[in-house]
Amino acid sequence: MNKSVFAKPFTQQEGMSAAAIERAVEILQGGRLHRYNTLADEIAEATLLEEEYADFQEVKYCVACTSGGQAMQVALRSVGLKPGDKILANAYTLAPVPGAMHAVGAVPVFVEIDENWHTDIEDLRAKAKSSGAKFMMLSHMRGHIADMDAVVSICDEYGITLIEDCAHTMGARWKGRMSGNFGAVGCFSNQTYKHMNSGEGGFLTTDDEEIAARAIVHTGSYMLYGRHGRAPSEKVFQKVRLETPNLSARMDNLRASLLRFQLREIDDSIHRWNERYQALEAGLRKSPHLRLPERVQHEAYVGSSIQFQPVGFDTIHVPDLVKNCAARGVEIKWFGANEPVAFTSRYDSWQYLDDLPDLSKTKEVLARTCDMRVPLTFDLEDCAQISQIICEETAEIAAR
Ligand SMILES: *Cc1c(COP(=O)(O)O)cnc(C)c1O
Repeated sequence: MNKSVFAKPFTQQEGMSAAAIERAVEILQGGRLHRYNTLADEIAEATLLEEEYADFQEVKYCVACTSGGQAMQVALRSVGLKPGDKILANAYTLAPVPGAMHAVGAVPVFVEIDENWHTDIEDLRAKAKSSGAKFMMLSHMRGHIADMDAVVSICDEYGITLIEDCAHTMGARWKGRMSGNFGAVGCFSNQTYKHMNSGEGGFLTTDDEEIAARAIVHTGSYMLYGRHGRAPSEKVFQKVRLETPNLSARMDNLRASLLRFQLREIDDSIHRWNERYQALEAGLRKSPHLRLPERVQHEAYVGSSIQFQPVGFDTIHVPDLVKNCAARGVEIKWFGANEPVAFTSRYDSWQYLDDLPDLSKTKEVLARTCDMRVPLTFDLEDCAQISQIICEETAEIAAR
């Protein structure tokens, strides 16, 4: 058989639009890159972005940050978490999440995931009860949103403040509600591979005025918080401003300008991601040896990546599948490796955290988890070719 090779890079994002580039050049020429460096009648680009993102997210407040990881650190402090406090967290996520918890001195209590990469509700309930944790960081990892009715009800029952990591669910909904709006705070990333790309960047969103005020002061507003457009009243700032350290986590105007243009296009981007996801899904489902998740009807997901599990053969052969696909230009990530590789790491490699538990179910699921990024620079024919390559290589290993 003459084996086809896929030639496009899996890391190629779309370029910035001409309009965004034009605005960015204007800002560079103007020299006012810092969000608080504004003329008397001027509203900073970062402030405009916050207002526009808050509208899109259907919340009162948005605070633009330097990164998603910083948004999470600021969120954890702003909800009142203190060093030594326990925090529930699903064990399947990426390194910035444990990093953010560690940075604020939180003590993670990791919760198992199920075969669809959702937080395991029974384990969550058990650990909410046994740990006494008053916080939860829920990462909607790779866009898979858990049963939020159950998560919210457990948090209510045990008085747990919920923070959502929406790095992979910007624009996604569950039963009509935007991901990020189920708990006290939503955190988003604008890192280069996420749903909006300013290289680095993040958002924190909330309806709570005290959390918003703390977040604004934490990100480093000096005493210029009055320059935020949609911000809590002066009274709320008076209460928090002297007890809230400046962490220098502000977004600048240059990045904000790039993001403002992308936000106008995000519904179209989501539509294009889902077309590509569905093309890949249809192709991969042709293999009897690959399992794909059934996405529930009430989950409006964003298919910016796809996950599947080989089922017809032993997991020790998964690295061979990854290798054989790579030889044909198809870049699959495997979450089961004992050592972290590039962006993927398993929870037990975060050894700076104490008392890492043995989560057998999570390890078993991750041992079979193959993961692929879906850049918008791929077209639908690319998706057909990619899935065909994966199906062929899977069949070859299954026939051994
Ligand atoms: C990207 C990402 C973040 C935030 O990352 P930054 O690079 O700090 O913006 C958080 N959680 C997950 C799951 C991510 O993929």
